[in-house]
Amino acid sequence: MAGDPIRCDVLVIGAGAAGLMCALTAGQRGRIVQVIDHANKPGKKILMSGGGRCNFTNTGTTPANFLSANPHFCKSALARYAPSDFIDMVERHRIAYHEKELGQLFCDVSSKLIVRMLLDECAAAGAQVRTDCAVEGIERGADGFRVRTGQGRFHCASLVVATGGLSIPSMGASGFGYEVARQFGHEVLPTRAGLVPLTLSGKHQQRFADLSGVALPVAARCNGQDFRNFMLLTHRGISGPAILQVSSYWQPGDDLRLDLLPDRDAGDWLRTMKRERGASELRTVLAEAMPKRMAQRLCEHWLPDRPLRQLDERQLRDAAALLGDFPLVASGTEGYRTAEVTLGGVDTAAISSATMESRRVPGLHFIGEVLDVTGWLGGYNFQWAWASGHAAGQVA
Ligand SMILES: Cc1cc2nc3c(=O)[nH]c(=O)nc-3n(C[C@H](O)[C@H](O)[C@H](O)COP(=O)(O)OP(=O)(O)OC[C@H]3O[C@@H](n4cnc5c(N)ncnc54)[C@H](O)[C@@H]3O)c2cc1C
Repeated sequence: MAGDPIRCDVLVIGAGAAGLMCALTAGQRGRIVQVIDHANKPGKKILMSGGGRCNFTNTGTTPANFLSANPHFCKSALARYAPSDFIDMVERHRIAYHEKELGQLFCDVSSKLIVRMLLDECAAAGAQVRTDCAVEGIERGADGFRVRTGQGRFHCASLVVATGGLSIPSMGASGFGYEVARQFGHEVLPTRAGLVPLTLSGKHQQRFADLSGVALPVAARCNGQDFRNFMLLTHRGISGPAILQVSSYWQPGDDLRLDLLPDRDAGDWLRTMKRERGASELRTVLAEAMPKRMAQRLCEHWLPDRPLRQLDERQLRDAAALLGDFPLVASGTEGYRTAEVTLGGVDTAAISSATMESRRVPGLHFIGEVLDVTGWLGGYNFQWAWASGHAAGQVA
C-alpha cells in the first residue's frame, strides 16, 4: 500500500482486555502506542462478560486459580498487578461495583463502564485505538516489525499480540495470535474449549433431557478438582457454574462425579430419615434436599422407589454412595461457540514470565488469553488479562 508507514514504539494487535491494559500502561510511560483490532468496536468480550456487568476481577486471585502447562508462569505478573490495582482504577473512575460471591467483583450498572474506563485511560496516555483494522502480514526487520493492515503499514519497535482465544468466534475471536506465534518459531499447545457446558449422550441424555432448566447445588469432581456450586440441566447436557469450572479439567473419557447432596453426609442423613420418617418414600424425602423432578428421576432409574423403612442397611449405603458420588458420563462439550475461554495456546516455555516477551524474538510479546494460561470462572481471566497486559506494558 502506498503512503508513509505509521510509526510507533508499540503496536498492540487486539483491543480486548489485555491489549487495552498494555496500551494504557505503555502510553503512561511515554511510549507512542497504536492498538489495532479487526472487530468493529473494542472490548467486545468485556461488554458481554458477566451477563453485561463484567466480573472484572476476583479479590482472592492466586496462581492456583489458573491452568497452564507451567503453573508457575503466571506468578510474577499476578504478583506485580494485583486485583487491588485494578480496583483502584475502577474507583478512580467512580464505577460502582459489588461483590457477588467468593470475591467476584461485578459492575453495578454495566460492563460498558469498564470499556469506557480503559479507552479513557488509553486516550489520556496518548494510545490510539483503531477498529476495523485487519492485519495482512507481519515481517521483522533490523529496526523492528513491519505490519501490513487494511489501514496502512505500521512500523513498530515492540509488537504485542493480544488477540485472545478461540471462544465465541461471532465476537471477533480468531486463531490469529497462534499463527503469529508459529510464524516466529513458537510452539502452540493444543487448544480446547474451557468453562463450557458439557453434553450428555445415551441413557443419561435421555433420562435428563426433559429436566432442562432444573438447577441444584452439587460438588462436581474431575481429575482431582472439586467445585461446589450450582449445576443446571440443559436440553443437551449440563451447565451452571460447578460444571463450567470442572469442564476445564475434563477431557473425553475422563471420570466425572457429582455429589448431589453436597451439604450433608448422604449416609447419615438417609439413616436419620429412615428412623424418623420410615413410612415416607425415598423420593419424597429426597425432594426436600433437591428439586422434586430430579429426586423423582433418580428414583425412577437409579434409586429404590420405596418407603425408607423397606430399605436395609446395604441398600441405604448404596443409595448414599450414588447420591454422594454420582458417575455422569459426559460425551463432549458445547465447544467454542459457547465456551468462555480457550485452554492451551502459546507455550509459555519460550516467553519471559516477567515481561511476556518472546525469548526467541526480542520485542515480540504475547499477553492475555492467547497464552497457555487459563483462569477459573469468577473474574480470574480478566485479572490475568490485566496483569499480563500490565507486565508487557511496563517494558514494551
Ligand atoms: C461470554 C463470556 C463471558 C465472560 N465473562 C467473564 C467474566 O465475567 N470475568 C472474567 O474474568 N472473564 C470472563 N470471560 C473471559 C474473558 O472475556 C477473556 O478471558 C478475556 O477477554 C481475555 O482477554 P484478551 O484481551 O486476551 O482477549 P479478548 O478480550 O478476547 O480480546 C482479543 C481482541 O483481539 C481481537 N482480535 C482477534 N483476532 C484478531 C486479528 N486477527 N486482528 C486484529 N484483532 C484481532 C478481537 O477482536 C478482540 O478484540 C468471559 C468470556 C466470554 C466469552
